[in-house]
Amino acid sequence: MQEFELISKYFANQELHRPDVLLGIGDDAALVQVPSDQALVITTDSLVSGIHFPENTLPFDIGYKSLAVNLSDLAAMGASPAWLTLCLTMPDVNPTWLQAFSAGFFALANLYKVQLIGGDLTRGPLSITVQAQGLVKKNQALLRSNAKVGDLIYVSGTLGDAGLALLSLKHQAQLSATATEAVYAKLNRPEPRLALGQDLAGLAHAAIDISDGLSADLGHILEASKLGADIALDLLPLSRHLKTSLNPEKAIALALNAGDDYELCFTLPEKNKMAFEKISAALPHPCTYIGKISASPGLRLFDSQGNLYKGPLDGYQHF
Ligand code: ADP
Ligand code: MG
Repeated sequence: MQEFELISKYFANQELHRPDVLLGIGDDAALVQVPSDQALVITTDSLVSGIHFPENTLPFDIGYKSLAVNLSDLAAMGASPAWLTLCLTMPDVNPTWLQAFSAGFFALANLYKVQLIGGDLTRGPLSITVQAQGLVKKNQALLRSNAKVGDLIYVSGTLGDAGLALLSLKHQAQLSATATEAVYAKLNRPEPRLALGQDLAGLAHAAIDISDGLSADLGHILEASKLGADIALDLLPLSRHLKTSLNPEKAIALALNAGDDYELCFTLPEKNKMAFEKISAALPHPCTYIGKISASPGLRLFDSQGNLYKGPLDGYQHF
């Protein structure tokens, strides 16, 4: 199959057509219309086989995840996703693989009404680069640098589940059948928290998506905002799968350090707490208060007795 045939067969027939796409796939570049009151939000992430996903990951899940991690970055900015480009490098042409990959990619793209408007195909070791573009009202983007002293710190969903799936892949954890299903879904098909991110625009001060582990990613907010945080380990939201599969110390270490959860961590001024909790009740996942932003730099983690946590902080390098 020729390159242009591959593009038209697998990538150029998305059923979704956004009215703001003036020119989609097929020319030297695409054209889109950006509303004058909105800022264009642009992000890109590459996934390399064997590094960002295990080599035996299903092609549907590779397509899904390569888009999900990019949409998660838009969610963390408070943006609505709009357009995508896809650069795909693959070792050979495998129609079954391509069919499943594009099905996974478009399942998520159609769900969030994002249109694929261009890309590139090359031959080489399997790797996928997606660029996602979205829109946010000017001045409402959620920046890492905007946390304020006294802000309440929240995380969405539960932490450490994708990390548990990775442990099980390395035969370092024994999981029940239900836990296996749940945590592998979390690893392979993370849900970008787009509704939450858009709700937070205008309410929250700072946000980040948790790709490298809570301690590392909250650390990025603290560093960018030149502030510190006090976190109560008891408050960290752990799934029952994590709690039943590991002892409490290992479960906490994973919730703090494991990446790939793609939950949001955000900071909210106390005055917006009620407004936020009303909105949050309508979301399909919990948002959990875990601690407070403080003027004193560094990340401090306390156990239920008020003692400082002395366990591993692997993903964490900033303080
Ligand atoms: P050129 O080499 O002139 O840039 P290409 O043959 O690479 O053109 O691409 C032709 C058209 O197909 C372009 O509009 C490009 O954006 C689009 N395209 C190429 N690869 C992909 C892909 N994997 N997914 C979506 N669109 C693609
Ligand atoms: Mg090209």
